[in-house]
Amino acid sequence: MPDKKTLLAHLGRHPEHHRGAVNTPVVRTSTVIFDDFAGLQRAESGQEKNSYGRYGTITRQDLEAQLAALEGTESSFLCPSGLGAIAFTLGSLLNPGDHVLIPDCAYGPTRAFCDKELKRLGVETTYYDPLIGSGIADLVRENTKVIYLESPGSVTFEVQDTPAIVAVAKARGILTVADNTWATPLAPSPITLGVDAVIHAITKYICGHSDILMGVVNASGAVAKRLAQQHRLYGLHVSPDDCALVQRGLRTLAARVEAQEKSALKIAEWFASRPETRRVLHPALHSCPGHEAWKRDIGMSSGLFSVVLNPYSKEAVERMLNGMEYFAMGFSWGGYESLILPLNPKAYRTAVPWTEDGLLLRLHVGLEAVDDLIADLEAGLSRLNA
Ligand SMILES: *Cc1c(COP(=O)(O)O)cnc(C)c1O
Repeated sequence: MPDKKTLLAHLGRHPEHHRGAVNTPVVRTSTVIFDDFAGLQRAESGQEKNSYGRYGTITRQDLEAQLAALEGTESSFLCPSGLGAIAFTLGSLLNPGDHVLIPDCAYGPTRAFCDKELKRLGVETTYYDPLIGSGIADLVRENTKVIYLESPGSVTFEVQDTPAIVAVAKARGILTVADNTWATPLAPSPITLGVDAVIHAITKYICGHSDILMGVVNASGAVAKRLAQQHRLYGLHVSPDDCALVQRGLRTLAARVEAQEKSALKIAEWFASRPETRRVLHPALHSCPGHEAWKRDIGMSSGLFSVVLNPYSKEAVERMLNGMEYFAMGFSWGGYESLILPLNPKAYRTAVPWTEDGLLLRLHVGLEAVDDLIADLEAGLSRLNA
């Protein structure tokens, strides 16, 4: 198997089918016209993939093929957003009366989907300590059908012991689903650790330019078969124009993420040396819960991490954030630009209450020159202390 960087550049395009055009053309079509009656019959029987716009044209198919190859799965299902992919996956794999285990560090809207929509459908959710490891066995019930992972969590950055959790799940016939958005397809896939379905918010690094919302779930075998059926039933569609932009983002994924990883590590270490800092929550640093699991299972990082500073007044935080030159306040991450957000895990944690009373800042480090970013943060800390 070639290196993933090579797959990023070479997969998902077929110039020989498009008169040499290096990129897959954007095919905008609802109707597909068949050559003859036999072609129509092949489409009706499901043998012909190219049968109707809703099932995807070559633009989407090439992107799906590339994402599946990067993940090492048979199939890849695109959804209108990352949250859409999460809702589609959990909704497709769970039935009324089932029970699901969700890590306490999970993405907020994932929790909302479980607490409201899964509840409405008669599925019960239990939140668990992301650092529980094989202790998850104690939370498994007879009706537990899915164990969900998000490693690391995108606010508090605990890295989970995926192999220990997968071992418990496999011994009991429970499916595992991982949101792997932070680690990107560049990290070793959780599929290689035995996870059944892997989700990415394409919106973040895969797209990389803050101009598209899309999500994907990758899977093989019986899980893929189930997802394929549900994907058709729900009529899920993503625009071919967006698929082309996502493929453009994918081509440069490694170059962008490696640059952002390097700058983020430099900034994380800079924070660690500052007197305002209590803890740096970056998986590649010893101070991060689950660092050893990160070293063993992930081994790379991206541009997103958090720091816990001393407590400050609302006015001080306002002074710092309003004056930032390059770090903008805004949701999402994974784009080319730097972002900063004050976040409060106390507001949502239930399994392991967040006891830290210091100021948690989540930073997304973009492609700006790192020294400019550090100067911006340094001035920000001066305003915070003023
Ligand atoms: C942003 C995000 C999502 C959701 O992606 P959208 O495309 O914004 O719906 C899911 N999981 C994680 C970890 C995220 O950061």
